[in-house]
Amino acid sequence: MRTISVNEVKEAVKEMCMEASFFLPEDVRASLESMRQEEPWPLAKETLKRILDNADIAENQQVPMCQDTGMTVIFATIGQEVHFEGGSFEEAIQEGVRQGYKEGYLRKSVVKDPLFHRENTQDNTPAIIHYNIVPGEICHILLTEKGFGSENMSRTAMLKPSDGVQGVVDFVIETVQIAGSNPCPPIVVGVGIGGTLEKACLLAKKALMRPLGQKHEKKEYAGLEKELLEKINALGIGPQGFGGKTTALDVFIEIFPTHIAGLPVAVNINCHATRHKERNL
Ligand code: SF4
Repeated sequence: MRTISVNEVKEAVKEMCMEASFFLPEDVRASLESMRQEEPWPLAKETLKRILDNADIAENQQVPMCQDTGMTVIFATIGQEVHFEGGSFEEAIQEGVRQGYKEGYLRKSVVKDPLFHRENTQDNTPAIIHYNIVPGEICHILLTEKGFGSENMSRTAMLKPSDGVQGVVDFVIETVQIAGSNPCPPIVVGVGIGGTLEKACLLAKKALMRPLGQKHEKKEYAGLEKELLEKINALGIGPQGFGGKTTALDVFIEIFPTHIAGLPVAVNINCHATRHKERNL
């Protein structure tokens, strides 16, 4: 049995909230730079340069790279042999978010009642927490700050099995086309296929956490990721929607077994500010 203080959890979450907002992940920076080199459209090239300049300013001055600092989503992988001491694990996560958003001067973007009152909770809580309980003593926390310019353009469909691969391709491309400039391209596209309605959405969100360039382990899905990326970049939406060949940096697919009568598909879009951090405690 391994004991972890919830204070350690709180501190890690607090730091990750700020780091995710200030520092563009290295894989995203490298991808933006390589897309900039290859981009033939002058306005697209210039837009990519400005996105990179913006990331440099955020990093150097330790300020958020975007005014929308997102809603915090946590993927917590906890070993069955881990015991938390000093309080509630979940409250430690929420307190970490509270303190991180306060200390980092990150915009508080969460409303308590989603429909009638919409009053701001003033501290960006609650974070959304997904648990994965596994054997052993691991405690891994993956944190993302999901902006809603891109979240709002995400979609789910319960396709028929007969819709097949073409049905999935059509739905993903249609979703990106409808999104247009709204999710602040260049985007990252997460596609969840299988499971149930909610599982497909979760798979799509999890897919967004994969490092850019890392393809699916199964050949046919890696091929489908490549096909989707090429088709999306052929749409001509371009950086910030000004036109160009750089609409998406990558496409990731996650799959799960599903029912014989269904083919659930979810598309979760992330903007270039694909903020995520992870820690092993
Ligand atoms: S979609 Fe991304 S870049 Fe655009 S406003 Fe939201 S967080 Fe910022």
